[in-house]
Order: sequence, then C-alpha cells, then structure tokens
Amino acid sequence: MRIDIITVVPELLASPLNESILKRAQESGHAEIYVHNLRDYTDDKRRTVDDYPFGGEAGMVMKIEPVYRCIEKLKSERDYDEIIFTSPDGITYNQHEANRLSLMKNIIILCGHYKGVDYRIREHLITREISIGDYVLTGGELAACVIADSVVRIIPGAIGDEASALTDCFQDNLLAPPVYTRPAEFNGWRVPEVLLSGNFAEIERWQEEQAFERTQTLRPDLIADK
Ligand code: SAH
Repeated sequence: MRIDIITVVPELLASPLNESILKRAQESGHAEIYVHNLRDYTDDKRRTVDDYPFGGEAGMVMKIEPVYRCIEKLKSERDYDEIIFTSPDGITYNQHEANRLSLMKNIIILCGHYKGVDYRIREHLITREISIGDYVLTGGELAACVIADSVVRIIPGAIGDEASALTDCFQDNLLAPPVYTRPAEFNGWRVPEVLLSGNFAEIERWQEEQAFERTQTLRPDLIADK
C-alpha cells in the first residue's frame, strides 16, 4: 500500500512515520509512505501556501493552487482510491474505517493547517473527510500519523504476529481482554489462575468472557452497534 501525505510542516511527520512498526512495514515493502512539502508546489519566491480569508476574518487559509498542483501531479502518476482531508468536521475515525483503508492500494492524505483550506479544495479534490475526534488540533499532521499508523499495522504481514492485530480492541466490536506477563505474582498481586493452567480452551473462553464483560461495562455502545 502507498500513502502520500501532503503537508506544510513535513518535520512533524518524520519521527512517527519512521519508527517501530511503520518503519519495519516500509523496510519489508508492505507500505510506502511519502511526505510532500506543499511549499515545493508554490510558484513564488516566498513559497506562499496561505493567504487572508475573503470576508476579512482573523487567521490564514491554505491556498488552492499548491494543493491542486500537488494532487494533480500525484494523480497523473497513479490512480488513487481515496483522497482524504483531515478535518474536525469529517466522519469520526474508527477501526472500521482503518480496516477499509487498509485494503486500498494508493491513498493521499492532505493535512490542513491555519484556519483550514480553501473550501473549493474540499468540494472538488477531496473524496473523504476524516476527523480523529471532537477536538481541534493545530494541524492535520498528527491526524495523518494516526491514520497511517492504524492502517499500516493491519496490512497483512506488516506485524510479525498477525494474530496480534486481529485480537486488538474494536476488531469484532469488542474491547481486548487484559494481558499479563511474568512474574506470575508481584507484591502479592497474582495473575488470574486460568492463564497459568495451560488449558487453552479454558483460556480462550476466559478471554472471550473478559472481552465481553469489559465491553459491556466500559463501552456498551459497541455491543449495541453490532
Ligand atoms: N477552523 C477549523 C479548524 C482548523 S484546525 C475548524 O474549526 O474546523 C487546522 C487543521 O487541523 C484543520 O484544517 C485540519 O486539517 C486539522 N485538524 C484539526 N482538528 C482535527 C481533528 N479533530 N481531526 C482531524 N484533523 C484535524
């Protein structure tokens, strides 16, 4: 899978995209992630990417021309399944959407900044608008990292132990059961006996019960959604 991220602050993306699973997925060829600096698509000496809003409000707005040039260039090189804009008024991101995106071949993520982007970009160039939650960030870069991370880790083969991604929270609309590691007792606090029993059928049943109970207590809305 290929992800192209368009931003005015490429530095913000460097570390999250180049460590841990995202790094390994790129090294093993499961994912390609490219960051494009919007200033490279400007045509003035000052490399201007923003301008004052019509109507005279406070704040700056991202200009349409550099975004158009960048998206058109990428589109001339390959087909894109989705051109995403990160936005607090988009659909709320969740595991279902991550699963859907992970099946795609090529996606673009445009990160907004300042007051946002010229609305014509959203009307004419964007195919999907995604919010990572009901709060406002300074820019879309952190949201793009959240999307890239959650999508890449479920590409088959990207995580060494594939079963691990499938037993995460929200796969199946259930929260994950608790996990423990050695020592079996610390400070008098014991790991649940069943996990030490070696009886895998019992262990699986216990994990299912725990997942269901935790979901019912902490996120009953997930069970109602099923
Ligand atoms: N004035 C805008 C907010 C601009 S914040 C409004 O009220 O809607 C600047 C940029 O940060 C946005 O264009 C968007 O790309 C990004 N952003 C902010 N909050 C976000 C969120 N919750 N999810 C995804 N992107 C977000």
